[in-house]
Amino acid sequence: MNVRSPRYGIARAPAVCRACGAPTPVFALVLPAGHEVLEDGDWTPQSVCAVLFYVGRISEPVRRRLAALAPDYRAPAADAGEDAHWTNHCERCALPASEEELHGEADGAFVPMSPAQAEAIELVVVPEPIEADAAGYGVDPPGIARLVG
Ligand SMILES: [Zn+2]
Repeated sequence: MNVRSPRYGIARAPAVCRACGAPTPVFALVLPAGHEVLEDGDWTPQSVCAVLFYVGRISEPVRRRLAALAPDYRAPAADAGEDAHWTNHCERCALPASEEELHGEADGAFVPMSPAQAEAIELVVVPEPIEADAAGYGVDPPGIARLVG
């Protein structure tokens, strides 16, 4: 695990499936300011919130919470490789949406380009600890800091 926090959020953004064209929600884990990142073997507190993507392992209570609140954001198969990560799927046709598409491209669901897009992102704050392994880490994502506090 390389990030941890005493609480976290589950962000939900509207998206449109590239395969079937249906509107479908997509999800991401958010850590509030004060979370810690493992840097050179030391847990280092961070002063801003962050959104996680390319998430590998997640602590078990959080996995259960995601299964209930974000069932189409799914863990990789047990036999997937080390680089496998949690992935959003269309709720109608089950096509996976790449993390790059959602987090790395302008206009991606978690890269709002307008205040209206930013305001469409919703967040459920979960007052429980989280530990995770995330290869993607977006600092102070637009539209999210206002929600997580
Ligand atoms: Zn679809």
